[in-house]
Amino acid sequence: MTKYSTDPIGLKITDPNTIKLTWKDQHESIYDTLKLRLLCPCAECRGGHGGKVGDNVSHIKAPIIVNDYNKIGRYALAFDFSDLHRGGIYSYDYLREICPCEICKGDAEKNYK
Ligand SMILES: [Zn+2]
Ligand SMILES: [Zn+2]
Repeated sequence: MTKYSTDPIGLKITDPNTIKLTWKDQHESIYDTLKLRLLCPCAECRGGHGGKVGDNVSHIKAPIIVNDYNKIGRYALAFDFSDLHRGGIYSYDYLREICPCEICKGDAEKNYK
């Protein structure tokens, strides 16, 4: 059972450090690009396949901006970060889960602290 929409209807790079995603239920997620980079779910950033998100990102320092992004099928985005990292596949489910807004934050921190 999904409690919220994971269909994005809009994505905007509003400034070099900010990405705004608008979901079908009109919810807006505003991501800081550095934090998004730190939450990269790829195996490298998790320190291997058994690792957790954030386990191998301590060497990453600001500023990190998003130069571009690609849609992966209908389910995910891949960001082109300024540190030349672009291997992370951010599924829409995941992006909605890590939404940093006050309403969603509780859930995200529970999962990724
Ligand atoms: Zn990564
Ligand atoms: Zn939110």
